[in-house]
Amino acid sequence: MLFTVKELKYVFTNHHESLDDSLAINRITTDSRLKTDHALFIPIIGDQLNGHDYVEQAIENGAVAIVWDEKEELPPSIPRDFPVFFTEDTTAGLQKLAAYYRDEINPIVIGITGSNGKTTTKDLVAAIMKTTYNTHATLGNLNNHIGLPLTILSMPRDTEVLVLELGMSGFGEIDVLTKIAKPDYAVITNIGESHIEYLGSREGIAKAKLEIINGLKEGGTLIVDGDEPLLQDIHTDDPVDIIRCGFNADNEFRLRDVDITVGGTAFTDAHGRHLQVPLLGKHHAKNAGFALQIAELLHISKEKREAGLQALAHSAMRFELLKSKQHQATVVNDSYNASPTSMKAAIEVIKQMEGFDTKILVLGDVLELGEYADQLHRSIADVISSPITHLYTYGEKAKLITENVQDSEIQCKHFGTKEALMSELNQHLTEMSLVLFKASRGLQFETMVEDIVMEQ
Ligand code: ATP
Ligand code: MG
Repeated sequence: MLFTVKELKYVFTNHHESLDDSLAINRITTDSRLKTDHALFIPIIGDQLNGHDYVEQAIENGAVAIVWDEKEELPPSIPRDFPVFFTEDTTAGLQKLAAYYRDEINPIVIGITGSNGKTTTKDLVAAIMKTTYNTHATLGNLNNHIGLPLTILSMPRDTEVLVLELGMSGFGEIDVLTKIAKPDYAVITNIGESHIEYLGSREGIAKAKLEIINGLKEGGTLIVDGDEPLLQDIHTDDPVDIIRCGFNADNEFRLRDVDITVGGTAFTDAHGRHLQVPLLGKHHAKNAGFALQIAELLHISKEKREAGLQALAHSAMRFELLKSKQHQATVVNDSYNASPTSMKAAIEVIKQMEGFDTKILVLGDVLELGEYADQLHRSIADVISSPITHLYTYGEKAKLITENVQDSEIQCKHFGTKEALMSELNQHLTEMSLVLFKASRGLQFETMVEDIVMEQ
């Protein structure tokens, strides 16, 4: 049993008189379609749908109690004595319940934000924590004002370490999440350009990420990308320990000797230990650095830290290494999402990988960049140089990348259809070629990847 009704009564004071304290609640859900056993259903009012319209379905699927917006009418089909907790706002109610439960269980909380690398760092931290503690972590990418409370509310009562991803698209959002999560350790993985449309500038983005301090526990530790100039002078009224992790010499947790091989990224950590993370890219050495620093602060042995890094179960579509069906070319599928920063990072990785005579980039639009879109797409061209041999683009803005590549040795071509792109690509593939697919998720580059790779 996750919750007692007594606890729910404490959080939601306005409820049916007849509520039975012994009723077991095994799960909190906002999804009426989910088959559950003894769930509390919290209907959310979204832009498109109102969860209150689906309460009957939720009850059919196993909800034994509901939270209800006072302004909504209860359908007559709901029995009079059905357990209902009334609230002014169900989303705020969900968050309040999560904040209560977080304090009640009181695990060590690690909160991770940043423009890129949140999920990867979260997975790395969780993999290391699992070697030593009962660990609960955000599933996939459930990092917003609903996903974060639901993650907290699904943690087993014996959880010792809770690892949370905090996402945002505007000011004030991390503030809400961090005050629910109250992290003991917070990480800002990097400052990129995602959501610049809403935040105005990279300074704005940095400021929005730094909101994570607002919920940091007293005496808590903030670990940041130490190579980011915008995170050099962090002004805060709160007593916060700040540790910088990165490649530059003045970082407290300095990483060096990064070497990318087909099997993963090798690096030397701040203590001169040689480590490897089974992910490709210099930036993943840094993501691992954040995780290693936290592990050190939590006294996890170095053997377990290494075992944790190796055990990392990597989510699909993030720098996945595949082979093409016909020519046995090496295909890197990074079509999960993209920002200018992550696209440049991915291109750098392709440049550094050894053992290929042809290196082909298949790039598409990066979405949600607003008025900065043209400038940022052009800037991607800056990192495209030898040993890249071919660049193929698809999408309205991606054309700007092709148009701005300086190196005339590189064959650059923009395509109006994916079919045309694929037929050109197929002509250049051999066993010795390496192909990167990367674009925003909306461009659906995974369909092209599926076309050329072997059945897995
Ligand atoms: P989202 O906002 O979609 O939740 P995220 O912050 O969780 O993204 P990941 O899913 O971990 O990020 O990685 C997304 C992309 O960012 C990947 O393509 C990866 O190559 C790149 N990336 C990962 N870590 C970093 C980093 N530290 N700096 C720059 N790019 C990175
Ligand atoms: Mg994520």
